[in-house]
Amino acid sequence: MIAIIGGGICGLGIGWRFAQAGEAVTVYDRGTAGMEATWAAAGMLAPQAEAEHGEEALLPLALESRAMWKDFAAELLAATGVDVDYREEGTMVVGLDRDDVEHLEHRFSYFQSLGLDVEWLSGYEARKREPHLARAVGGAVYSALDHQVDNRKVAEALRAAFLAAGGTLRENVEVTGVSTAGGRISAIDVQDGTVTTDAVVLAAGAWSRNLAGLPEISRPPVRPLKGQMVAVQMEPQMPLIETVIWGPGNGVVPSIYLAPKSNGRLIIGATVEEMGFDTGLTAGGIMELLRLAWDVLPGIYDLPLVESWAGLRPASRDDAPILGPTPTPGLFLATGHHRNGILLAPLTAKAICDCVRNGEVGSSIKPFLLDRFEKPVAVNV
Ligand SMILES: Cc1cc2nc3c(=O)[nH]c(=O)nc-3n(C[C@H](O)[C@H](O)[C@H](O)COP(=O)(O)OP(=O)(O)OC[C@H]3O[C@@H](n4cnc5c(N)ncnc54)[C@H](O)[C@@H]3O)c2cc1C
Repeated sequence: MIAIIGGGICGLGIGWRFAQAGEAVTVYDRGTAGMEATWAAAGMLAPQAEAEHGEEALLPLALESRAMWKDFAAELLAATGVDVDYREEGTMVVGLDRDDVEHLEHRFSYFQSLGLDVEWLSGYEARKREPHLARAVGGAVYSALDHQVDNRKVAEALRAAFLAAGGTLRENVEVTGVSTAGGRISAIDVQDGTVTTDAVVLAAGAWSRNLAGLPEISRPPVRPLKGQMVAVQMEPQMPLIETVIWGPGNGVVPSIYLAPKSNGRLIIGATVEEMGFDTGLTAGGIMELLRLAWDVLPGIYDLPLVESWAGLRPASRDDAPILGPTPTPGLFLATGHHRNGILLAPLTAKAICDCVRNGEVGSSIKPFLLDRFEKPVAVNV
């Protein structure tokens, strides 16, 4: 029996692949599956627009998973009838004043040096594509291949697909610890007893580090990173934008983004805050989000504000996911996906399922094993 701790996009996706392969698999979630970071996200699948210096190792993994998304969405639709709103209009990063535009030109050169398929647009060309953008937009990078989904629909679809494939879902059941026998994972502890397992996949998001009984050598260095979000409602037949737009940030919002869904919801995010497990909303956070979004898309001013929320990204020490086997036989990790867990879901599901079933670590996930954190850090003296 395989036990998966955590019913977010990672746990449900992996569970679905196990169930399809005929494995006896149970996903445990201490709340309702899909209601933490997976629910809080914006659903962007944008490895190009989000490429950053220092994260070059992550790019191939992110591009590989992005390439899997269209089929993943179609497979979910076929299995469950749930349309996850896979949208292909692309992503545009815009600059406002001269400073922004020059900075964006540097980023464009960097994207090109990575061989990414991106296009430079003048302010006029950007507004031709999205006429409601602010007059101040002076230049943009357009990434046609960076798509998006409705992550809440994805959670709904994955849950249904997992159950239809024969998986067992235990919601409102907290895994309070794991046990080992002879150094190998042997059982998990839940509130109503102990369950013997052959393998455990730890996919508990921002909570993955805290599980009792985890051998120290297999404890993933994951911490919560808070993100506040708001949503306004556009007219679905006359949306202000159809492309995902990124714009300049400020302080607690390093970059602003606006992700339009087909039902007219326009998701605006996000703050990035080291606040432990706090998920409270702040006036300052929401004010920054709305002000920065308004700079880019003034038309949001009159739209109804329909929701505000905060979620916890599971961030690792190097902002990349932690995937695959651990020094504790039988214990596997699928955590630390930080701001890319929706994007990386199809690849995570397949790679972890293959790894547990065949005992082989696929080449894509080799750079993302837990053992990378054991390497000594070079110190300049
Ligand atoms: C504001 C925000 C915006 C984001 N936007 C994007 C985006 O646009 N694109 C993108 O790719 N990613 C985005 N992300 C990141 C993405 O949401 C996460 O990386 C991803 O959802 C992580 O999925 P998960 O399954 O690991 O964690 P979660 O979805 O958090 O699921 C973990 C689950 O484990 C359960 N759990 C925890 N401990 C236990 C326990 N002891 N026993 C049982 N169950 C337990 C929890 O209840 C939870 O349901 C965003 C995140 C945030 C917060």
